Amino acid sequence: MDINKLLKGVNCDCGRTHTCDIEYVYIENNAIQRLGEICGQDRNILLVADENTFAAAGEKTVSALAGKNIRKVIFSGGAILVPNETAIHEVRSALSDADLIVGIGSGVIQDLCKYVSFESKIPYIIVATAPSMDGYASNGAAMITGGMKVTYPAGLPVAIIADTEVIRNAPIEMLKAGYGDIIGKFSALNDWKLSHLINGEYFCPYIYDLTYAQIQKTLSLADGILKRDEESVKALMEALTIVGILMSFAGSSRPASGSEHHLSHFFEITGILDGTPYFPHGIDVAYSTVITAKLREKILSRPFPSAIYRTTPEIYAKTMSAIYKSAAPGCIALQNKIGNYTAERGYLQKEDGIRAILAEMPTANEIERMLSLVGLDMEDFYRFYGSERIENAILYAKDLKDRYTVLWVNYDFYGGDSNV
Ligand SMILES: [Zn+2]
Ligand SMILES: [Zn+2]
Repeated sequence: MDINKLLKGVNCDCGRTHTCDIEYVYIENNAIQRLGEICGQDRNILLVADENTFAAAGEKTVSALAGKNIRKVIFSGGAILVPNETAIHEVRSALSDADLIVGIGSGVIQDLCKYVSFESKIPYIIVATAPSMDGYASNGAAMITGGMKVTYPAGLPVAIIADTEVIRNAPIEMLKAGYGDIIGKFSALNDWKLSHLINGEYFCPYIYDLTYAQIQKTLSLADGILKRDEESVKALMEALTIVGILMSFAGSSRPASGSEHHLSHFFEITGILDGTPYFPHGIDVAYSTVITAKLREKILSRPFPSAIYRTTPEIYAKTMSAIYKSAAPGCIALQNKIGNYTAERGYLQKEDGIRAILAEMPTANEIERMLSLVGLDMEDFYRFYGSERIENAILYAKDLKDRYTVLWVNYDFYGGDSNV
């Protein structure tokens, strides 16, 4: 797949014209050297990195920008960087007369740059340091504001630069995370099809198929990723970038983020609220994909109930505040606005179709085997989070989001039963 050709857009059979505003994607050896030509006449550059990502690619970036005025914001590499109001302020206040922002890093650094770029209308370029997630090419900035994980609409980078020499030397956990983020698409795509059937949500077979093809390609890379083989890591980064472009095509993260991402966001949010650790994004997504596969198997193994489960507003509010603390009112307000708790889904009339879609998902055992190819073991996940946190995630991760997924089917059918 030629990424630069994909960037030109597609006149699609789904009735939409899909476009993406990224101008350049370079995933190659020494890609960073292209920065000079891409920056063109821009004189004042704001570099944003943390100590670790600067150590990985900072020097190369600075030398590629020789002759420019460079200002730097470098976050501490010691603690996990949270993309919250404080971090936004730090980048924003360093902008001054910058013509261009260059973010060196992976998830959080890029989300921060994306957010500030959108707000200030100063363009940004990504220098990726790890093939760890698919957000490089997506037009949403995943921020944590007011204690909530909120995906803000944001602009796209002018360019994505992934120097294979840099990204293949990323911490091995980050390489596994990128693989895991792609495995999660099995679940995201399944949720998308499900919501198309149940809620009539927009669906594009072209985006679906092309995303699916990225999963299949990535599965063959496991061995090479573990060995940091340059071609395999390059192919992984390409898959992640293509999925990002497809999100732009879809106009939302729907093809790439469903119930498995909601579980991962739950672990991240509650980790931040409670001060407890959580796995890197793509690793959480990978493990969570096994959990959502189990939910689909559970639903398939039982008859559909004749009525859907509902609790009282009082019990709901109490449960939410126990789990989400200061973030609870925001979740409750969101669900009241969307009406997920009062929606009529027509499950029984659509039972055959729902069963057919759920059955398309690989089994939990199959997903576990795919994860084991890069040394990810579900036992680590169960030990790390414990059963209570996992059960809460299954029942209440959905409340963080407006998006319909299999987590809602499970809740609507079985309410308080979080068994998988
Ligand atoms: Zn389409
Ligand atoms: Zn992801």
